[in-house]
Amino acid sequence: MTDQEKKYLEIIDTLIFALDNKGKITFLNKKGYEILGYIEGELIGKNWFDTCLPSNIKNEVSNVYKKLMKGEIESVKYYENPIITKSGKEKIIYWHNTVLNDDKGKIIGILSSGDDITKSKITEQNLKESEEKYHDLLENLMEMVIVVDNKGKITYVNSRSFDLLGYRPEELTGKNLIPNLVLIDDFPFALNEKSNEKQFLGIRFIEHKMIHKDGHSIIISGKMVTRMKKDKIEHVGLLRDVTQQKEDEKSLKIKNFAIESSSNPIIMVDLNHILTYVNPAWLEMWGYTHLEEVLGKSMRKFIQEKTEDAFKKRFRKLEKTTKVTGEIIGKKKDGTIFHAHLTANTVFDEQNKPIQRMASFIDITDRFKAEKLKLEFKKQLEEKVKEKTLELLKEITERKNMEGRLKNAQNLMKYQIKQLHCLYGISHTLSLTDISIEKILRSTLYLIPPTFKFPTLINVRIIYDNNQYKLDLFKETKWKLYVMKYINEKPLLIEVFYNEDKEFIIEEKNLLKEIGERIKIGILRRETEKEKDILTDMVKNSPDAIFSMNNDTIITSWNRGAENIYGYTSKEIIGKPIHLLVPTDQYDTVLEISTKIMPGLEINHYETKGLNKNGKILDISVTVSPVKNSEGNVVGSFSIARDFTESNEQQKLYQDQLLKSSQFKSEFMASMSHELRTPLNSIIGFTDVILERISGEINEEQDKYLTNVKTSALHLLDLINDVLDISKIESGKMEMDIEDVNLSMMISQIDTMIKPLYKKKNLKFELQNIDKDKTIQVDRLKFKEILFNLLSNAVKYTEEGIVKLEFSEQEKFWKFDVIDTGIGIKEEDFNLIFQDFKRIRSDYVSAIEGTGLGLSLTKRLIEFHGGNISFTSIFGKGSTFTFTIRK
Ligand code: ADP
Repeated sequence: MTDQEKKYLEIIDTLIFALDNKGKITFLNKKGYEILGYIEGELIGKNWFDTCLPSNIKNEVSNVYKKLMKGEIESVKYYENPIITKSGKEKIIYWHNTVLNDDKGKIIGILSSGDDITKSKITEQNLKESEEKYHDLLENLMEMVIVVDNKGKITYVNSRSFDLLGYRPEELTGKNLIPNLVLIDDFPFALNEKSNEKQFLGIRFIEHKMIHKDGHSIIISGKMVTRMKKDKIEHVGLLRDVTQQKEDEKSLKIKNFAIESSSNPIIMVDLNHILTYVNPAWLEMWGYTHLEEVLGKSMRKFIQEKTEDAFKKRFRKLEKTTKVTGEIIGKKKDGTIFHAHLTANTVFDEQNKPIQRMASFIDITDRFKAEKLKLEFKKQLEEKVKEKTLELLKEITERKNMEGRLKNAQNLMKYQIKQLHCLYGISHTLSLTDISIEKILRSTLYLIPPTFKFPTLINVRIIYDNNQYKLDLFKETKWKLYVMKYINEKPLLIEVFYNEDKEFIIEEKNLLKEIGERIKIGILRRETEKEKDILTDMVKNSPDAIFSMNNDTIITSWNRGAENIYGYTSKEIIGKPIHLLVPTDQYDTVLEISTKIMPGLEINHYETKGLNKNGKILDISVTVSPVKNSEGNVVGSFSIARDFTESNEQQKLYQDQLLKSSQFKSEFMASMSHELRTPLNSIIGFTDVILERISGEINEEQDKYLTNVKTSALHLLDLINDVLDISKIESGKMEMDIEDVNLSMMISQIDTMIKPLYKKKNLKFELQNIDKDKTIQVDRLKFKEILFNLLSNAVKYTEEGIVKLEFSEQEKFWKFDVIDTGIGIKEEDFNLIFQDFKRIRSDYVSAIEGTGLGLSLTKRLIEFHGGNISFTSIFGKGSTFTFTIRK
């Protein structure tokens, strides 16, 4: 072996060694040492068989080697045997030997190469074992395992084939799949040698028919693995009989279809009432369109139950029984409500545990409505019957009442007849003409008790015009009914008395009222008749001429007065025209009067001229009134004429006299007053002198008396002054001296005079609307007197509060209001106020000094200024005196 060769052998990955013919190692490459576990070179010259072979085969292999060397046997090209490593581990080597020959062809040794196949040997073993296991597994599989080659020949089938197809495996192995087990038409893919390349490799699911040994077909289903095995395509099927399952599925499908297409709403809920399935009919009934809207939701949402509890209770029933029926109120998507009948079942699993509930519904809204209607109808009917019964009852009681009322009415009629009799009696009595009021009242006494309804009524009393009328048996009790009427302000009292405690009833009261009314009318008529008689007398005897005429001015009646004034008797004048009584120049007046009378006017105290029978012209004051018939039409007139021819003459005379005497009186008064004033002044003056002790001392008593004298004298002087003033005015001697007067200055002067009094009484004195610079044109002294009189009166007659002077200006007047909050004046005393010497008679006024002339003088002074005075007063509250002064 060359070194080159050796080098080559060194690097080769196979164990290579060379032995001489004795079996000694002459060469071992690197790989050889590696496998055998010796250090390189260590084995050179060592016996291969002794060193490197396990003892049990060493002799045998050594013998074979000797024979080989001798050329007795031919070398085996390949063999395998174990070797032993330095550490004693056995390894299996797959050998390849080449016998080495020398040049002469003599065997000199051997060159061997070997591969360590220890590992693959173990694998092989394992494979064998696992194949066995695999076989067991296959045999115990639930599925039928069938292996066919690409021509369809069955190469393997497990014993499940018997269960599925009725064949034992040995019956099938080597047979063709088609047509023994599978009809070509049913087989989904062709088994074809030629189509190798195109064959699908991998797993597919298959399901198709197979023919059972006894001829019926079954459906198998499973996986088909198509794979390459040693360049050949092989199909391994793992198949199951799904005939039954298919059938189940089919029937389930049918059932599903039935449920899906059912027109009855059907649902499934889980044990928590959550919807797991609904059919289209349900969706439609509940108004939904998509399953997502409802699935997974609680049934609670779709059923109207008042409370959660009520809802749960309904479902709890299902837990106890398997089937529940009942009525529910469904709630649609849009919220509307309907009635439905429900049938619910529980679905159990194999362990008999409930897993689902199924429910179907029938819409019974219509039925419900119909039932409701029926119920309502029934109710109505019942009510009708009730009503009718009530009506009947009512009728019966009413009839009873009617009978009672009839009886009452009969009684009432009896009573009314009596009542009518009584009233008729009274009316009859009243209609009698020559019967006095007294007689009427007396007969009424007899008419009332016996005809009156009430037998216990014992007596009647009538009081009229201070006369009492009663029966002899009259007895007053405390049970009294009465009526009171007024006839020309005279009271008429009719009283009836019971002899026992009894409420008077309304009929009695009404009857008594009616009696009262009738008697009143009767008496009134009699009274007016009386009046009429008086009037007739008056007309007859009147000194005035009273006569009437028709619309044609023809005289129709004539009294004695007319006879006296005009000189005609009634016989002479009645039927004659009025013109006989009128001087010719007054004919127009007659015409004028009659045109005024026609529309119903009246002519009062018209002064004109008349003509008497002797031709004397008379001064006549005539009052003419229209005479109307019952329809209110004017049918004529009547006149009252007074002849004042004589009195006119006398009047003139009297007036002249009066004037003269008045003038005389005033003049007299003026001079008298003057005469009176002079001595009075000296009385006052001298009394003053004595009182002021000018003429010497006086004692207290003398002082007191003299003070009295002075007061009286001053009062008298006041009186005389006033009289004098009045007289002056009346006699026309009073003169006016008009000048500009500053109003506020004048008032302040008066104020100083009245201040002590109002201060003393603690009164307020107020001025209103009085301008400082206001001047008025008046007689200074007289105006001052006016204002002073009124203001001092206001202060005098006021005890507390305020006195006010208000000024205002009008176009032609100045106006003054003197207002106080004093004692006031009674209305009955109003006419006294401005009269001379008149004072109100009261303790209060008497205690205050006064003459009763102040206001009468004031009035005259005001009138003298072209103004007037008036007052308003409320007794106890105060007075306001208002006067004007002409500008
Ligand atoms: P006399 O001098 O009495 O006051 P008058 O003529 O002034 O006389 O008044 C007449 C009467 O009018 C008084 O006596 C009094 O009774 C009554 N009188 C006048 N003014 C007032 C008043 N302001 N308030 C109440 N009474 C009054």
